[in-house]
Amino acid sequence: MTSTTCIRGAGCIVAWDSANLQHAYLMGGDIAFAGEAITFVGRQYDGVAETIIDGRDLMVMPGLVNLHSHPSTEPFYRGVREDHGVPMMYMSGLYERSAAFQPDPAARRAGKQVAYCEMLLSGITSVADLSATDDGWIDLAAQSGLRVFLAPSYASARWYMDNGWQLKYRWDEPTGNRGFHAALELIEQAAQHPSGRLAGIVSPAQIDTCTPELLRQSFAAAGEKALPLTVHCAQSVSEFNEMVNRHGKTPVQFAHDLGILAACTVLGHAIFIDEHSWIQWHTHADLQTLANTGTSIAHCPSPFARYGQTLEDFGRYRRAGVNIGLGTDVAPHNLIEEMRLAVVLARVAARDITTASTTALFHAATVGGADALGRPDLGRLAPGMKADLVLVDLTNTWMRPARDPLRSLVFTAADRAIQSVYVHGAKVAEHGRVLTMDRAAALAIVAEGQARMLRDAPSRDWAGRQAEEIVPLSLPPWC
Ligand SMILES: [Zn+2]
Repeated sequence: MTSTTCIRGAGCIVAWDSANLQHAYLMGGDIAFAGEAITFVGRQYDGVAETIIDGRDLMVMPGLVNLHSHPSTEPFYRGVREDHGVPMMYMSGLYERSAAFQPDPAARRAGKQVAYCEMLLSGITSVADLSATDDGWIDLAAQSGLRVFLAPSYASARWYMDNGWQLKYRWDEPTGNRGFHAALELIEQAAQHPSGRLAGIVSPAQIDTCTPELLRQSFAAAGEKALPLTVHCAQSVSEFNEMVNRHGKTPVQFAHDLGILAACTVLGHAIFIDEHSWIQWHTHADLQTLANTGTSIAHCPSPFARYGQTLEDFGRYRRAGVNIGLGTDVAPHNLIEEMRLAVVLARVAARDITTASTTALFHAATVGGADALGRPDLGRLAPGMKADLVLVDLTNTWMRPARDPLRSLVFTAADRAIQSVYVHGAKVAEHGRVLTMDRAAALAIVAEGQARMLRDAPSRDWAGRQAEEIVPLSLPPWC
C-alpha cells in the first residue's frame, strides 16, 4: 500500500481544467498524491493521508517540462558565451564556439549534474537531454530524481570553419549510422529502467549535419517505437542558406519533403522560417507546414536573443496552430526566466502586447512540452497525472503581494520562491538544495573542465587564437 500525501488548504493550486483544456486557479483547495500519481485535486480531500502538508502559504503548480537542453556542455560556457557571437555569420556564435571550445569527456558528467541541479531548483521536473551517448548517463539520470528523456544525439557530419564567415561540413556517414544504432540501444535501456522516470527521444542532431537517409531512418525508428523525434532545424541563417544551396529548399520545406514532419516531431528551434525578417524568402509557407503536420517546436529564447535574434513571433506561431514547448538551450537552465523572456520578446517582435501572455507561456512550459513528448500525464495537476509538483512560497518577499501568483513568479521571483519540488511523488529539492546530487562537488569539476577547455582553444580554433582573443573578459585588466 503506497502512502498518501495531502497538501491541505493550499493558498493556490494551478489545477488542470480538463473540460476547457486549460490551467485554472483553485484557491484554498486540496491536492493529494500516492506513489507516483496524483489522486485528488479539488475543494476538500476526505480520504486518508499519512502525510499532511499545510498549504496555506503555498502555490502548488505542475512541474515544468524542459523540451530542449544540452546539459553535458552548456554549464561549461558560463562566462564564455553570453556576449559571444559572429557578426559575419549573421550574429550566430554557434559554429565558431562549438569548434573552439569543447569540454572534455572527463568533465561532461559533472556538467550534466550541474545542469540537472539548476533545473530542479527552478521547478523543472521533466527534461529532454540532448547529449552525446556516454556510459553512466542512465545511472546519473536515474540518480538525479528528474524525469529524463534521453536524446542521444548523432550526426553524419561535423561543422568546421577555416575562415571567419563560412560554415563547412566534414562528412563521416559511418559515424552517424553507428551513433544512430547506439542511440536506439541506449533509449531501449532507459525505457526499461526500474525508476519509471526515464524515456527516450530519437535525436538526429541537426537538419544540416545528417544525410537525408539517416533522417528518414530516424523518423521510421521513432514511428516504429512510438518515440518522439527531435532535430535542430531553422536555427541559423547560415543553416538556412546551406539548405537552399544544397537542396533548393528552406530547412522546413526540406524536412517536410523528406516526410519527417509529424505530430511526433519536435524542431529546435524553427526561428529562421521562410518569412522571418532576416530571411525574406519568396515563399510564406513554412509556418503553415509546421501547423498542418502537427509538428511541435522547442522555443528557447535566451541564446538567440543574446545574438539579437528572436522567433517572429510566439503568438503568431500559436495562432497558426503550432504546438510550442519551451527549453533551456543554454545556462542558466531556468525555464521560469525563459518564460519571462519569451513573453517580452513575443510582444517586442509583434509590437503588440496581446500576442502573448503569462497564461500562454505557462501553458507552453507545461502542457506544450508534455504534448510534444506525447505525454498527456505530465504538465497538468489532475487525478491520474504524474505527481510532478512544484511548491512555491507565497510569503517569499519576491512574490508579494501575491495577488496573481503566476505573474509574481514569472515576472519577479522565479526560482527564489520555490520551496520544494517533487518528481514521481518523491521530494527531490527543498529550500534551494537538491537532495539527490552534490551540486558543489560537480561545480568544482566543471570549473576545472572549463579551464582545460579554454586552455585548449588555440589548437581547435580556425585562427589558432587564445580563448581570451575569441571571448575577451567583460572588463579589461586593471593596470
Ligand atoms: Zn540545441
